[in-house]
Amino acid sequence: MKKKILILCCVLFPVFFVSCGKAKPSIYKKTKPLMDTLVTITVVSASEEEADKAIEKAFSVIGQFGNKINFFSDKSELSAINKNAGIAPVKVSDETMGVIERALFISEKSGGAFDPTIGPEIRLWDFYKKVRPEDAAIKKNLSLVNFRDIILDHSKSTVLLKRNGMMLDLGGIAKGYAADLALASLRQDKIAAGIVAAAGDIRAFGLKPDGTLWNIGIKNPRQKSEADELIARARLTNKAISTSGDYERYFMDNGRRFHHILDPKTGYPASQCRSVTVISDSGIFADGFSTAVFVSGPEKGMELVRQAGVDAVIIDKDGGIHTTPGIKGMVTFEDSH
Ligand code: ADP
Ligand code: MG
Repeated sequence: MKKKILILCCVLFPVFFVSCGKAKPSIYKKTKPLMDTLVTITVVSASEEEADKAIEKAFSVIGQFGNKINFFSDKSELSAINKNAGIAPVKVSDETMGVIERALFISEKSGGAFDPTIGPEIRLWDFYKKVRPEDAAIKKNLSLVNFRDIILDHSKSTVLLKRNGMMLDLGGIAKGYAADLALASLRQDKIAAGIVAAAGDIRAFGLKPDGTLWNIGIKNPRQKSEADELIARARLTNKAISTSGDYERYFMDNGRRFHHILDPKTGYPASQCRSVTVISDSGIFADGFSTAVFVSGPEKGMELVRQAGVDAVIIDKDGGIHTTPGIKGMVTFEDSH
């Protein structure tokens, strides 16, 4: 027996030294402002130079996509669609078409709780300057919000918003897709493990250098004392995890919280949840469904995630926690919850 172990060691050690002789895999991380948020990419690599190259390429892929769907840029495909609302169909790239198709899928599935034509309502609000629009203005623009009035022509690759004044806003789905794109780019560059985090839209793949899963915190939507206090931790890999919350972009007015996830039926912030985290195989669906479930509220939201085959942690308006069965193996809650 002893002999066997000895022989095994003689065979294994050289292999071990050859493979690790170059450099041990380490974690490299970079952050860049993109798509109106901060994107952080973490990779595991044996070479700092390769890691840097792969990260920079992934950033540029996100940047290119961000330019296509930027709500505020005159040059984006999205603003061309919006400027031509009620006027003419606009030719778009396959990528933009694909994102709109998936936005429509989530709109359909959620019965319009997710609606990418929320643009005319969103632009009335300013959550940084604490601008609360007049009730009448919100009411008026409601007639411009309806995902069924997006007309796609697949043979011509065009998008038409049926009525003048309509506006597409892909903010509820774009960052998750950006995470998908970045991950594909990293894989193409032979990166086997890492994390792409476009703010709260995160994709993790492979394992840490020590062979363990990635840890991703879920923030407490009502911080008690310390900043960034967590309510739970997810340990996972090869998954997308997205959180939509009422605590990132918001202001308080007379004790009421106004935030950036709007109910397309009212034009006002959805009020049934504090935060929704969705775990799925794809970033675009994790992102889109987290917004959709947030608007739907805990009951309809749970039904929605069940039908969509994704996992979710919903923190409702009173702080109650609702989870799908699949969450058990992936997420641990902090002691106080
Ligand atoms: P975050 O942008 O903080 O990650 P979300 O993914 O939930 O959060 O997206 C919120 C953004 O989605 C808003 O800033 C707005 O652009 C857009 N949005 C708001 N309400 C809706 C809605 N009901 N359906 C689709 N998109 C929405
Ligand atoms: Mg979202």
